[in-house]
Amino acid sequence: MNICVVGTGYVGLVSGVCFSELGNHVTCVDVDEQKIAKLTEGKSPIYEPGIEDLIQKNLHKNRLLFTTDLKQAMESAQIVIIAVGTPRKQNGEADLTYIEKVAESIGQHLKSYKVIITKSTVPVGTGKIVKEIIRRHAGEVEFDVASNPEFLREGSAIYDTLNMERAVIGVESEKAAELLIGLHKPLTSNIVLTNIETAEMIKYASNAFLATKISFINEIANVCELLGADVTKVAEGMGYDKRIGHAFLQAGIGYGGSCFPKDTSALVAIAEKAGYDFRIVKDVEQVNKEQRSKVIDKLKVALKNELYGKRIAVLGLAFKPNTDDMRDAPSVDVIPILQNEGAEVVAYDPVANENAQKVIPNLEIADTMQEAIINSDAIMILTDWKEFKEIDLTEVSKLVKQKIIIDGRNIFSNEHMEQMGFYYASIGRKTVS
Ligand code: NAD
Repeated sequence: MNICVVGTGYVGLVSGVCFSELGNHVTCVDVDEQKIAKLTEGKSPIYEPGIEDLIQKNLHKNRLLFTTDLKQAMESAQIVIIAVGTPRKQNGEADLTYIEKVAESIGQHLKSYKVIITKSTVPVGTGKIVKEIIRRHAGEVEFDVASNPEFLREGSAIYDTLNMERAVIGVESEKAAELLIGLHKPLTSNIVLTNIETAEMIKYASNAFLATKISFINEIANVCELLGADVTKVAEGMGYDKRIGHAFLQAGIGYGGSCFPKDTSALVAIAEKAGYDFRIVKDVEQVNKEQRSKVIDKLKVALKNELYGKRIAVLGLAFKPNTDDMRDAPSVDVIPILQNEGAEVVAYDPVANENAQKVIPNLEIADTMQEAIINSDAIMILTDWKEFKEIDLTEVSKLVKQKIIIDGRNIFSNEHMEQMGFYYASIGRKTVS
């Protein structure tokens, strides 16, 4: 198939590259000239394991193209995929500015039948808006709109796309359904075919449910701390129940990233507009917000309430491992609070250092983990990178000023920390002191 993907961010780029890997001819379009120039040279503007190899391979096979010219990219395409951002507005709603702009441009360049798919996460009812905008600009040209929300996880996005657990396809016509089923058949046999509104809702319902699981286990963790129970064991014990499962039951400093925070608040806004008060998701958001402060409280206890002048090594800046994405990362909330209290923060992340510098003002970044922890009064772990899990604690003991670790991701066991002689405070477990 000939496919045009509009927006080459984490979703558009991965989708475009994977569809080309399957043998389709894909042209990826972006308004960001620098991104397109980089991609044309076979370089990825984002960190995503395995993506650069696939970009280069498919560029070489002439089935992947990058351009800023939407008109040209659309000419031979049967399918146009919209994958631009839908950030959060001040009032919590999803901002549809980019979607509407793209719909307008698509309408202007539409000269023959195509299926226009919205892959971006959009409020229920957006499919209709996209259709109206395109219709306004496309005159009498025939087209279909469809919803095909994305479920990939940053950090394993290529794997998730090529081994898709399900494809959700929201359509209004047989013709569009046939085309989209054909596109997804090589990727998954779990195809959920429905109307556009339902497809749009499936995405928000899924993300809100996962966020709920995280806030739930975080509340259990908070109660565990009060009662001397161990949340990691609680989660293990719960997870063997197939109705519950182990995934998303890791207690910590709360969720972040480009999806859960904005999608939960968008769902609350969507419900509110429809006249419904979505209480659970509101509480999920509140619990998540409060969870951020746990590591700061624990650090204060460890340092006897005196953060001023203390050197704090923050390990991990990205919102999760294997990505350089800093959107709504816990580090963005936590680090400025430490700095305001007069702490000297030195941070390190295996891949997100550059992006972090853009969003956290006056952040001192170390080139290596060792450089970050040297002479530190405490280490704070904010992202569970493999590199941190494999840290040599004997070496750490020699480098630091005080053997204190505040772990927002529960990456070590209390027993090991006790053996190594660390003060170790984690989430939902006893503090080792
Ligand atoms: P992103 O910000 O990384 O990428 C968006 C891209 O669109 C940017 O490169 C931007 O330059 C481009 N763009 C903006 N306006 C454009 C225009 N008029 N024409 C062409 N390109 C344009 O965003 P993302 O993380 O890829 O997310 C995209 C959508 O997918 C969002 O709705 C998000 O909620 C959803 N989503 C994201 C993820 C994720 O893990 N990142 C997962 C599932 C769904």
